[in-house]
Amino acid sequence: MRKFLTILLLALVVLVFCSAKNVIYLIGDGMGINHLILTQYLEGKPLTILKAPYTGFVLTYSANSNVTDSAAAGTALACGFKTNNGSIGILPDGTAVPSIAEIAAMNGIKTGIVVTCRVTHATPASFYGHVLSRDDENTLAEQLVESPLDVVFGGGWRHFIPEGGKRKDNKDLIAAAKDNGFDYITTREEMLSYSGDRVLGLFASSHLSPASERSGSQPMLDEMVAKALEILSKDGKPFFLMVEGSQIDWEAHGNDVYGVWKETMEFDRAVKVALDFLAEDPNTLIVVTSDHETGGLALSTGGYTFDIETLRGYTKNTDWLASQSGGDYEKLRELVKTHCGVELTDEDIAYVKEEATKSSYGFANGIGRVLSIKAQIGWSTFDHTGGPVPVFAFGSGAEHFTGVFDNTELPRLIAHLAGYPMSYPVYTVPLLGEH
Ligand SMILES: [Zn+2]
Repeated sequence: MRKFLTILLLALVVLVFCSAKNVIYLIGDGMGINHLILTQYLEGKPLTILKAPYTGFVLTYSANSNVTDSAAAGTALACGFKTNNGSIGILPDGTAVPSIAEIAAMNGIKTGIVVTCRVTHATPASFYGHVLSRDDENTLAEQLVESPLDVVFGGGWRHFIPEGGKRKDNKDLIAAAKDNGFDYITTREEMLSYSGDRVLGLFASSHLSPASERSGSQPMLDEMVAKALEILSKDGKPFFLMVEGSQIDWEAHGNDVYGVWKETMEFDRAVKVALDFLAEDPNTLIVVTSDHETGGLALSTGGYTFDIETLRGYTKNTDWLASQSGGDYEKLRELVKTHCGVELTDEDIAYVKEEATKSSYGFANGIGRVLSIKAQIGWSTFDHTGGPVPVFAFGSGAEHFTGVFDNTELPRLIAHLAGYPMSYPVYTVPLLGEH
């Protein structure tokens, strides 16, 4: 009897390995369909993402709001459950729920996360972390070094080091990570030449620089994805990799058209690397989606057009313009003329001044909104919106990703297709307004 059970167990293990697929799950934070279409117009050529053979829509509402934040949305996309805005991997009743990455690891699948924000930020944290508040990044750093992840690339060493960082508890989580089997690297050069099996790569104290300004020791997203795929695929066994284009969201919060363009392109290049991998290994499922739409981006403010040529003249993001001007409005006028090719009117300046009084981001937000309006691009908010986001799929099993999905369905469908089902009951909340 015992022999029979051993054989059965072995058969199950073999089954998992034979049927399991590689999964590359790419999330453009804040990326609505218009962010993609605008980027395609600005590039003047088709985006890789928009060549997807299978597409659908994804509803994004959270357990306590019709407009989600990235923590609740990340939890839905990682764990398959609705939770309250702000919570990561924990349900409104306090139950911690495993992520698709944790379930994959339990099944012997190698896992990785690659992002351009701090690795303790909401979206990546949803794949390994369990905290009531997304602001608890020190705890998330502890959970990360205890996690089964094999590859972690991004920013945010300030939450891992005892001195010069954000920790007051004197814990050295870099030492803890090494004790748990991670190699630790901090530069693009170290990453490009890395040849080990398990690595924590933190390339900045906080987030990586924006794609449009990044250089030197910080890698680009496509380079990180290429290295992660090399590490995870080297023994030929199946893996799970999550990739986030983290900063599309922030540029959209700032209503910054140039920033959205550059961040979306960086993300699209990362998707291209995933597709190149798929061409080599067809037993790979690639799913590209977003956690929510940011900004309410609208491709016209009227007049049956928007002005692509003016937008193509923009060469700096608004955070750069804001910081270079140092709050001096005449300097801002000069900078905008030199780097964006447009003149700010007195009315524009008055608008930016008013926005600047509203929050610490208000000055840059005001510049972003004004530069958008110059090109007949509209935004409904500096926050997230409740609209659906697109999902795109390529490769093995991609044909299942058509139709309208709830965000909680995506990780469950991916895990089912990949061969390590998430066999936990769905915690559903009614659509807000249905009560
Ligand atoms: Zn956001």
